[in-house]
Amino acid sequence: MSILSAPYFHDEEAAYEFVEARVWPDGRVCPHCGVVDGSGKLNGKSTRIGVYKCYHCRKPFTVKVGTIFEASHVKLRIWLQAIFLICASKKGISANQLHRTLGVTLKTAWFMGHRIREAMRGGDLAPFGVGGGAVEVDETFIGHDQTIKPKHQKKGRGYAHKNKVLALVDRDTGKVRSVVIDDLRISTIGPLVGQNLSREARLMTDEATHYQSIGKHFAAHGVVNHTRGEYGRGPIHTNTVEGYFSIFKRGMKGVYQHCSKKHLHRYLAEFDFRYNQRSALGVEDFERAVKAITGVVGKRLTYQTTNS
Ligand SMILES: [Zn+2]
Repeated sequence: MSILSAPYFHDEEAAYEFVEARVWPDGRVCPHCGVVDGSGKLNGKSTRIGVYKCYHCRKPFTVKVGTIFEASHVKLRIWLQAIFLICASKKGISANQLHRTLGVTLKTAWFMGHRIREAMRGGDLAPFGVGGGAVEVDETFIGHDQTIKPKHQKKGRGYAHKNKVLALVDRDTGKVRSVVIDDLRISTIGPLVGQNLSREARLMTDEATHYQSIGKHFAAHGVVNHTRGEYGRGPIHTNTVEGYFSIFKRGMKGVYQHCSKKHLHRYLAEFDFRYNQRSALGVEDFERAVKAITGVVGKRLTYQTTNS
């Protein structure tokens, strides 16, 4: 059966039930006072779908309160369609495509995309490289950082004017964690690597000078000399993190053609999410979408934060 035939993509009540089962796996939680399983369904002709009344604080609520769906006029079943599309597309899906496929306005599609990316943002802070595992760290450049004024340099040369992304890949778990950075100073990169890596980790980087002193803080530091045309010696390489960057860049170039620095972290969250929930790690499309739905709580994004 086609996944697109599933009732929660077409029937609003089924959509609510689907989301409720994921957001409230251990009982219905009142978003106002936090009471668990102390509420009842409001029935009646004029009552909207999925409205409950809390017996404790007496306030009504739905599963949308306190989530990325809150205050949105878009039907929940359309939200589920959008989440599934974004989660199942390897390179992402543009606001234009969402607009055409879902029949919402371009502005709404754009906003939905950013809210879904917000739901994909992970909160996992566990260090990489626990038990002496290898962690690859590298940076890449993408697009133009509009916050940097061009200096007297030839156009297209160097990376100072570009957006910069730092990524870490734990080779044992296959997971990535990436972040937008303002510059390549040791004072910027050092704390990020320090906070995200276990001291027992074996750090794998290229020969960039900013990694030389950072490497001393870990059990081992393997360095690949790219300028000498080296790709790696046995376990000493950064091929995994470079592979991640190539997926990210193909998606950004092919799908999300324009992206300003202020939104870049949201796209990174999307690519990190899909990479960390990929088929090779045993996560398929449906499960990936469900994972995104469980991430909708506490990620409410106001119009101002995405549009300003
Ligand atoms: Zn309550």
